[in-house]
Amino acid sequence: MTQFDTVIRNGRVATASDVFDCDIGIKDGKVIALSKELTDGTRVIDATGKYVLPGGIDAHVHLDEPPFLDALLNDDFETGTTAAAHGGTTTIMSFVQQEKGRTLRASLQDYHRKADGKAVIDYSFHIILTDPNEQIVGQEMPALIEDGYTSYKCFMAYDGALNDGQILNTMDTAKRHGALVMIHAENEHCIHHLCGKILDEGGTSLDHFPQIAPMAVEREATHRAITLSEIKDVPILLVHVSAREAMDQIRWGQERGLKIYAETCPQYLFLTDEVYRKEGWEAAKYICSPPPRDRDNPDALWRGIANGVFQILSSDHNAFQFESEAGKKIGGHSKPHFRKVPPGIPGIEPRLALMFSEGVNGNRIDINTFVAITATNPAKIYGLYPRKGTITVGSDADIAIWDPKKKVTISQEVLHEDVDFTPYEGIEVVGWPVTVLSRGRTLVLDGEFVGETGGGEFLRCDRVNLNPPRGQRVSDG
Ligand code: MN
Ligand code: MN
Repeated sequence: MTQFDTVIRNGRVATASDVFDCDIGIKDGKVIALSKELTDGTRVIDATGKYVLPGGIDAHVHLDEPPFLDALLNDDFETGTTAAAHGGTTTIMSFVQQEKGRTLRASLQDYHRKADGKAVIDYSFHIILTDPNEQIVGQEMPALIEDGYTSYKCFMAYDGALNDGQILNTMDTAKRHGALVMIHAENEHCIHHLCGKILDEGGTSLDHFPQIAPMAVEREATHRAITLSEIKDVPILLVHVSAREAMDQIRWGQERGLKIYAETCPQYLFLTDEVYRKEGWEAAKYICSPPPRDRDNPDALWRGIANGVFQILSSDHNAFQFESEAGKKIGGHSKPHFRKVPPGIPGIEPRLALMFSEGVNGNRIDINTFVAITATNPAKIYGLYPRKGTITVGSDADIAIWDPKKKVTISQEVLHEDVDFTPYEGIEVVGWPVTVLSRGRTLVLDGEFVGETGGGEFLRCDRVNLNPPRGQRVSDG
């Protein structure tokens, strides 16, 4: 009889497709048995009354990146991944920005040094292309795809914005070599113009922030990205989709049979643009790009999640300090200025609990959809499946055991993110992951961190091989 390293007993297991009561046998970091009445474990975790779910995959986080508007990202790979683990996430995909004039590999090596020996959960990288010249796209990208770096983000706006021709060239290489092009879809010229008008009229207060990038700015760029994808017949993934009008374009593309994938984030489901009317610096806590939208928007996006327009729910964690240590979000400026606040908000830890509480307990989505958008789909889309993102024989034993009734009031005090605020302060959630395993190793036990600094490993991603999304969730297999 097999001796398991760990047995998780009496839990209710949910995957992207099924819910079933069974025990889980773990050996050498892998799930090796799913069955009733597994008893032969060196260690036994009792999960009576709990949900046993695949550990979450947060496919969009920023950790330990270079300064932006003089502000430093506070969470590094140790604090950021520790907070992630507390929130039930066992894999992150973090961004590496190409520094102009350097090779992609040189930038990647910097990030490997930052993550190696620090990350407590497994990680992989997306690469942000800022200068997709012939050398980079023609030679470096194919070699990196071969090495397991298979996703590339293109900005259509802000510093490092690419023009349509550069995006088309990137798509050529992605198609030939099996990579996924991720698009930040906002129209650069519109933002530049609208911003200039506000500044010309002397506007500086933070309530101007959402006016520089209204929904139409995202809608247009989203449509254009879909058009480029159609022209090249190559899959794309729209990141951090914030606006229901952009979502409508995505649905339109999907209904044409195009390979259009989309991600949204909790800030667009739990916040609205009313946050920018808060007094003084307070509104800086919510400045992120794109901004949260009007009051009708969250319900529309929830419907988009429920009916399969969105495949992925990520945090876009970007943890600038609000005011401690000489001020980061608020800088050394004498009064609030909407162009002097670095855009980005933290959320790596409460992402799953927010979605579980409002989504599953709030009857907006079923538990299978919750698992799909937070773990299984990102694993499939980015080439980590079935090692990650599900509970099956042979998968990594990345498991979050949820108490579906545990009540938590989210606040910066209770979170482990290394940042002095949370935009979700005061939101009450029902359901929280109490015990979390990564490759069979316990990271969080009854809410206490018992993991090991540097225990996380780098994950190579498989080449991308995607069919068009079909209605509810990405199909199995
Ligand atoms: Mn972005
Ligand atoms: Mn981002």
